Amino acid sequence: MAKKEVKILPDIKTVEKIPVTKPFLPPLEEYMELLEGIWDRNWLTNNGPLVQELETKLTEYLGLDRNLLYVTNGTIALQLAIKALKLKGEIITTPFSYVATTSTIVWEGCSPVFVDIEPERLTIDPNKIESAITPRTTAILATHVYGLPCFVDEIQDIADRHGLKVIYDAAHAFGCEYRGKSLYDYGDISTASFHATKLFHTIEGGAVMARDPEVEKELHHARNFGHAGPEHFYNVGINGKNSEFHAAMGLVNLRYIDKVKEERKRQAFQYRELLAHSDVQFLDIPEGLDYNHAYVPVIFPSERRLLEVVKKMADEGISPRRYFYPGLDTLNYVKPAILPVTNDVSKKVLCLPVYRDLNRSVVKMIIELMQI
Ligand SMILES: *Cc1c(COP(=O)(O)O)cnc(C)c1O
Repeated sequence: MAKKEVKILPDIKTVEKIPVTKPFLPPLEEYMELLEGIWDRNWLTNNGPLVQELETKLTEYLGLDRNLLYVTNGTIALQLAIKALKLKGEIITTPFSYVATTSTIVWEGCSPVFVDIEPERLTIDPNKIESAITPRTTAILATHVYGLPCFVDEIQDIADRHGLKVIYDAAHAFGCEYRGKSLYDYGDISTASFHATKLFHTIEGGAVMARDPEVEKELHHARNFGHAGPEHFYNVGINGKNSEFHAAMGLVNLRYIDKVKEERKRQAFQYRELLAHSDVQFLDIPEGLDYNHAYVPVIFPSERRLLEVVKKMADEGISPRRYFYPGLDTLNYVKPAILPVTNDVSKKVLCLPVYRDLNRSVVKMIIELMQI
């Protein structure tokens, strides 16, 4: 019998893995300093001083017109939004987003109705929304995908004419300003994610922001079991709170967010410039948008070309992500739909690595691997 071949494992120290993104970690001492305060106060969660400070600082930093309620994560934020608006029946939504956008609708006992995306911006196509409205439709839930704004005026106009609520999944939109106001300030409710992989993070975390103070009141109580006092309850609630430890990470990260954004912008433009003559296409940054460069998506001419490049990158330990593939209409718990644009784009789109300490020479190598 032939001797079994001994596989020599690669030295993981020399094979540097390049993920699509890497969470930013601030200097440990700065985090420790805030932890000392938590130890002194012995106040770990339940709307503590750091949670309150984070809510105030984020509202100020983002220049929000509405109050920001800090919650457990971006998925709970979406669940709270659907609950607070008392939505039932059908919710018109985008198939081109992270799974949580759709799964939350189903989780809350509503039915997602998919409307195809607009081919340039990849957000829900407002021209296709009205034909999807039925007597059971109660809302539109759309994603500012990659931080690019939905067609907010057209969507609001449709919603007003048909008496629908609008929720924006703004998980990608931290720090994006559109026509002079934060993207968080659009829709009846917008939701944020501060997950470790997002541009701004609090390890796990999220936020809900409502236009109407009455809706905000619903959200405010619902995230804390419905408590309106130790022995009184305002509404049905859930545990959607977040802790002092998470808020502390957010407060320290906020000190660095401008630098983080700056570096990503530099990388994004480096990709754009050096790939200008390649066969991939970049998305246009719409006029009036102060963009956060949270993602660097590129569109390949074909899925075959994309897979070829993904393979070449994998051989070098680089893992871009197929955000978003496949379309959410293919989930096994939703009604399938015919969505030619989503179907086409989702097969050809790839998000390139971008994060604060991504080495410049790695960016050059990625660009090299993408040449025809
Ligand atoms: C990340 C993300 C979510 C979920 O946020 P979590 O904080 O991870 O729960 C929802 N929608 C979109 C578009 C996302 O990218």
